[in-house]
Formats: sequence, structure tokens, C-alpha cells
Amino acid sequence: MDDKSILQRAWERLLTQLGAPDRHPEILARQAEHLRRHVVTAPVSSLLLLVLVMGLVHDRVDTGRLWLWAAVLTATLALRLSLRWIRPRSPDGLRRWIFAFQWSTTATGVAWVWLLLVMPREDLALQILSLLTACGVVMAVLPLLAVVEHAYSSYVVFALAPLVAMLLSWGDRFHLVLGVMIAAFLLNMLRSERLVNRTFTTALRQGLHEAERAARDPVTGIANRRCFQEALEQEWRRSQRTARPLSMLMIDIDEFKAYNDNYGHVQGDQCLAQVARTLARHVPRSTDLVARYGGEEFAVLLPETDVQGAKSVAQRLLEAIRELGIVHTHSAVSPRITISIGGATCLPTKLDTPTELIDAADQALYTAKQAGKDRVEWTEGATNDRPAVRAVS
Ligand code: GH3
Ligand code: MG
Ligand code: MG
Repeated sequence: MDDKSILQRAWERLLTQLGAPDRHPEILARQAEHLRRHVVTAPVSSLLLLVLVMGLVHDRVDTGRLWLWAAVLTATLALRLSLRWIRPRSPDGLRRWIFAFQWSTTATGVAWVWLLLVMPREDLALQILSLLTACGVVMAVLPLLAVVEHAYSSYVVFALAPLVAMLLSWGDRFHLVLGVMIAAFLLNMLRSERLVNRTFTTALRQGLHEAERAARDPVTGIANRRCFQEALEQEWRRSQRTARPLSMLMIDIDEFKAYNDNYGHVQGDQCLAQVARTLARHVPRSTDLVARYGGEEFAVLLPETDVQGAKSVAQRLLEAIRELGIVHTHSAVSPRITISIGGATCLPTKLDTPTELIDAADQALYTAKQAGKDRVEWTEGATNDRPAVRAVS
């Protein structure tokens, strides 16, 4: 059952209706990164424009109204600027941040548009000046908000639609024409938004798709060796920083040559894929990684996992493959497919390299093979108190 509260679900719905930060964490991060680049410059340039406009019109308009408008606009700009100091990390936090950015920008847009109300009704030149300024601001926001689906359209509609309605309702020919012109401008901006959004998200999705493909192994569908290597280096550095143990397992299918020779390569590939899926299903955390290391070998990375934890994961994987029950009557070990696992745990120091962890796990795998296969062996000497790669000695 969905464990989200009604409020949370209503919030999700609102997000998708009024500007939809993407659900893909990578796209979300890129959208936020794009917006963050303008989180200071956009409000500051708006503030400069505000000063210029005030300098230009202050002696020709009602000062009370002008200051009220300037105060409201400044408040919305300050709200936008304050987002600079909020740095969310989680996807939900990012979505909320993008949402706040979008709506504080909309508030600024609305404030700009209502500059018209500050201008005297009979001073057409000043009215045109205010509309030109507002349209310029609305246009400048396009490359900013259009990276988030629907964000710019809700901005432009909130900012301009009431303005169009008001101009049309004033009834005289001049304002009628202005209203129609702003309505046409609004429609054009909506079209432009779709174009910019499609260009941005298509390029982003394509890039992500290619990156994902480059990290997958085509036979098994799990991560490939390159992806494992990158993850290992990243986790290695993290482990150095946090001083938390890092474990890895090297897994090899037993008697796989005999399987291939007797059942054929196609069935061999299917067996590999089944084993890969089963391994991936049985690693506990989202930060763990199962990868095809090569041939019929798999590597499992277990960040923040000590010797005892990693040993229990290894045992679980061994049993999961036994229980998978893939028939292999030509194996000298068992009538079903089995695996051998070599494990190693370390607390990386500045002197060690990730290769040492791989070597240690490899060494343990070799021991498991020598000892009769279908078993887990650990880097000799590695315990919870002394979980170093160098503890091989
Ligand atoms: P051990 O129990 O000592 O691990 O013996 P083994 O037969 O599993 O190991 P060996 O290294 O002798 O053979 C590995 C075999 O794995 C050789 C090859 O036929 C098979 N193999 C490697 N990559 C693939 C692949 O992508 N697809 C298929 N179908 N077979 C593969
Ligand atoms: Mg092998
Ligand atoms: Mg093998």
C-alpha cells in the first residue's frame, strides 16, 4: 500500500500540475543546477531595473503607489535571493527547491506586470513603458524556467492572463489593442517554452541514456566492469573520509566451461543473466553494487559494511544461487549451478589503492576454488577489529 499521506500526495499532484521538476534524480539535479546559476544574477538585475524605472517615473506618478509596488517587488526578489542559501541534497528536497524557485520567480513576474497600475490611466506613454518593461522581464525568464516542464507556462499565464483581462475590460480602443497584443505575446511565449523545454530535456535525456548504456553489461543487464571501477574509486575516497569499512566480493560461477560446452552458449548466456539478476536481488542496500566483472565473474561492492555484514551477504548470495536450482549435471561440484565467493574488507588509508582490495578478494576467491568451490572464503586475518586489506599477511 502507498504509505504517503494525503497531504504528501496532494503536494505531488500540485507539483506535476504547476511546473513539474523531473523525477529522474539526475535530470532533477541538472535542472536545479541550471536554475542555481541565475539565483543571484536574475534578482540583482531585476533590482537594478527597478531602480532605473523608479528614477524615470517617480516625479510623474503617485509616489505612495510607486513605493508600495517597489516594496512588493523587492520582497519577492528577496525571497528569490534567499534560495541561494538553501542547498538540498535529496531528490525531494531538490523538487521543493525548484518549486520554490519557480513560484518566487512567478511572484516577481506578477509584480513587474502590475507596474501598469502605478501609471496614470491617461498617460499612455508611461503605460506603454511599463508594459514594455514587463514583457521584457517575462521574456528574459524564458531560458531560465523553460528547463522545467510547465514551469514557464504557469509563470507566463499567472503574470499575463489577468493583465490581458484587465486591458480588454477597460473598453477603449487603445487598451483593447494593447490587450490583444499582450495576448498574442503570451501565446508566442508558450510556444517558445515548448521548444526550449524539448531541446533542453531531449539533449539531457539522450546524454543520460547514453551514459546509462555505457555503464550496463548487455548480456546480463547489470552494471559492467567500468561502472564497478568508478563506483569503487568513489566509495574508496568516501571510506577514506569517513573511516568506515568498505567490503567487496569477487564471485565466480563454478564449472561454467562445462556448462557452456554441454548446454551451448545461448543457454550459457541465459544462465549468466539469471545468476546476475539473482545476485542483484539479494544485495540489501541501494548503495551496494553488483557488476559483471568479466566472463562468468561478478563483483559486489558493499560500502559501509564490516567483515561480519559482508560475510552474511556473501552467504546469502551463495544460498540464493543454490536455490535458483539451474540444472548442471556436468559439474563436479553439484548437480545445480553454484558459485564461489572471495571476500575482502578494508579501512582504506592514504597509502592503499583500490586495486589492493580487488587483489585481496581475488586471492580469497582463488582459495575458495582450491578448497573445493561452492563456498565463501575471506581475506585471511581480516576481522572487525583489524579489517585491513593488508591483513592478508
Ligand atoms: P571454475 O569452476 O574453476 O571457475 O571453472 P570454470 O569452468 O567456471 O572456469 P573457466 O575459467 O575454465 O571457464 C570460464 C568459462 O566461462 C569459459 C567460457 O566458456 C565461459 N564464458 C565466459 N564469458 C562468457 C559469456 O559471455 N557467455 C557465455 N555463454 N559463456 C562465457
Ligand atoms: Mg572465471
Ligand atoms: Mg568459473
